[in-house]
Amino acid sequence: MIIQHYLKDVKKGNISIKKTVKSILREAKTLNRKYNCFNVISEDLALELSEAQERNSKGRLAGLPISIKDCICVKNVESRAGSLILKDYKPPFNATIIQKLIDEGAIIIGKTSQDEFGFGGFSTNTDNIPKNPFDLDTSCGGSSGGSACFTQLTKNPHASISESTGGSIANPSSFCGVASLTPTYGLVSRYGLIDYANSLDKIGVMTKTTQEINPILDIIAGKDEKDSTSLSIKRNSDNKVKKIAIIKEAFEIENKEIKDLILSNIKDYDVISLPLNKKYSIPTYYIIAMSEASTNLAKYCGLRYGATLPLKGNFDTFFSKVRSEYFQKESKRRIILGTFARMSGFRDAYYLKAMKVRTLLINEYKKAFKKYDILISPTMPILPPKFSEINKLTPLQNYQMDALTVGPNLAGLPHTSVPTGFIGKFPVGTMLISNHLDEEKLLNFGEQIENRD
Ligand code: GLN
Repeated sequence: MIIQHYLKDVKKGNISIKKTVKSILREAKTLNRKYNCFNVISEDLALELSEAQERNSKGRLAGLPISIKDCICVKNVESRAGSLILKDYKPPFNATIIQKLIDEGAIIIGKTSQDEFGFGGFSTNTDNIPKNPFDLDTSCGGSSGGSACFTQLTKNPHASISESTGGSIANPSSFCGVASLTPTYGLVSRYGLIDYANSLDKIGVMTKTTQEINPILDIIAGKDEKDSTSLSIKRNSDNKVKKIAIIKEAFEIENKEIKDLILSNIKDYDVISLPLNKKYSIPTYYIIAMSEASTNLAKYCGLRYGATLPLKGNFDTFFSKVRSEYFQKESKRRIILGTFARMSGFRDAYYLKAMKVRTLLINEYKKAFKKYDILISPTMPILPPKFSEINKLTPLQNYQMDALTVGPNLAGLPHTSVPTGFIGKFPVGTMLISNHLDEEKLLNFGEQIENRD
């Protein structure tokens, strides 16, 4: 049942919120044993919220179960961003979006599994690795793998709130066959998000179908005094899509089946070339993302949050021991590379240069949006890979898998991944990109081309 129908039925009193919540909690526990899609199932909180809503249901999302990516703070519920260094960290506050969802009657059911701090594209850089709904030996994509996995598998009304820095919402949506929106940078408050890279992070939505995204976006979007980068301007209400183009370079991928399937689903398009994006988006993204990440991770030292060790030796020794013990290998790699790129003497050559190139990439998109409402690309250049294949990838090969998603993320542009049928047993996603604040156009067009069979 789609979210809108469920919410209507709840309002009419045709459906019991408590029953739905109990059913989804049972389902989450069963699925979790097989698929590892949750780090925490917040049963007590979900029952408490559903109790209150059952007595006096109010709000625009009254009774709707929502799962939350682990990197978003939920008061008194372990929120560890897929990292062991934050083990047992229970925030004393709700992220702004969590408070907004609860105020509108939503029921928070748990924290979904992810790559540690969002570092990865396959949800394998963590202690709790989610599995693809269509094959247990295969990845869900990442870093919001648990969110996408559960969104696909649940039979209950549900939405998942996830986060993207360089593609972490679109990528797993594509690999798990669900719909998603990564909004314009700043449209949704980041207050209470455990940061990956502040100039890139965006909180967004996953649902089974594109038409279910809007009611959630309506609630979470908006200016927040607690996040100075949140936007006070509203999104554009015009949803008319007049002209579309496919991105030439994005279709120069090896997998011909993905390309053919996506193109067979759209018509009346032009072809546009974005050469700068093709050439520079990956190095630009990884320099910026790693530089910002390395500063964000400095605060995890074993004293202020989460995991610790017996206090021994001087501060430096203790600090190194804690970080060596609890960070995953990929996080250590990013701390080293990011710190290097920010060091005095290198800062101009790497971080500042990357920021300048970023402006060029944004301008390239902006020029395209003078003529087109929507740009189209495959979400991912490959079908979901098996874990055994991922293990063989070098770090660089791993990063290159993000070739199609990092561009819109660097430019802060909204994008959706729309389910577009299957190749063999695996789903394929089409990525639609629009100008800033044109989410309505994306969702409108996405609904038209969606194919879930
Ligand atoms: N795969 C990309 C990275 O590792 C994107 C991750 C994300 O969006 N959180 O940086």
